[in-house]
Amino acid sequence: MAETVLVVAELADGKPKKITYEMLTAAREVADELDYEVAVLAIGNELDADGLAETFGARGADVLFVADDEGLAEYAVEPYAAILAQLIEDEEPALVLFGFTPTGRDLAPRVAARVKAGLATDITGLRVEDDDILFIRPMYSGQAIATVKIASDVKMATVRPNTWPVAQPGDGDAADVEELDVDDLPEPRTEVLEVEVSKSERPELTEASIVVSGGRGVGGPENFKIIEELADLLGAAVGTTRAVVDAGWRPYEEQVGQTGKTVSPQLYFAIGISGAIQHISGMRTSKYIVAINKDPEAPIFKIADYGIVGDLHKIVPLLIEEIKKL
Ligand code: FAD
Repeated sequence: MAETVLVVAELADGKPKKITYEMLTAAREVADELDYEVAVLAIGNELDADGLAETFGARGADVLFVADDEGLAEYAVEPYAAILAQLIEDEEPALVLFGFTPTGRDLAPRVAARVKAGLATDITGLRVEDDDILFIRPMYSGQAIATVKIASDVKMATVRPNTWPVAQPGDGDAADVEELDVDDLPEPRTEVLEVEVSKSERPELTEASIVVSGGRGVGGPENFKIIEELADLLGAAVGTTRAVVDAGWRPYEEQVGQTGKTVSPQLYFAIGISGAIQHISGMRTSKYIVAINKDPEAPIFKIADYGIVGDLHKIVPLLIEEIKKL
């Protein structure tokens, strides 16, 4: 099936995560232009293959490959990469899409190296030109946008979350299910001893459509109450900077930037954040950026759509008060 776009699904408790539906949209766009098929690969344990085939089929997938085994319940790079490498060797898809997520960032390079495929990371666009697929990706911490051509037959990319819209269900038939052989998978070289799920009512940072981030200017861990209150009023995720994480005020999982998470929400609040290049690279593709900073020269104002110069301890409570009136 050389004429296929393969989406590597990300699942949580057997259910597709938002990034999977976003990748489906991207895959369908390319597939429609080239008259290709869309296939999805789901890996896990005790998956509801028929349910997934309906869900993905309604959103434009033609085929669902399923690798189901007890040993695949938790993500581990060795068996997951082996499944993908085998599938790619057998089916030779034209394009393989992963999420630009912790899992995709770990898995995609390993698979690309194995099958000798070119990999474009963190893509924010796909273009078809002369029957070739081109990849749009930010470079140099977002200072430049590159259009990349991949020379290998099988092309791979990791897709930035929140860039394509979520695929909506239509009247498509259930995807055809193909079970993959999982008999001879390599043992993982690491063992997951414990999974600590952070119990937050807030949306996941990379999936949230609004992110409220506080930086060192917030002044201390206790002052993050107002950041959290604003986030909760807006149904937003809380983000932060490395300076704050290094100071131990907030957990690493909230860090946005080059060495943290990449976010691309509809609305991003940068509160008490100077706008260092390493932070900006993780949030500059947000649709609207609102910056609150007492220093009018702070670099964050260069990329902000709305800037408020002033003390965040006065401005954020005022914002909260006004939003509560809505
Ligand atoms: P600061 O730069 O100290 O800025 C605080 C801001 O708050 C200032 O602009 C100040 O004017 C403002 N402020 C202070 N008080 C108030 C107030 N009362 N009201 C309003 N405004 C106020 N950083 C990241 O964020 N993410 C990364 O992934 C990351 N990766 C890095 C990787 C490398 C290799 C390196 C070298 C650095 C990395 N950094 C990263 C660190 C980055 O360079 C900055 O140091 C960091 O982003 C600064 O965080 P900040 O904006 O919270 O703090």
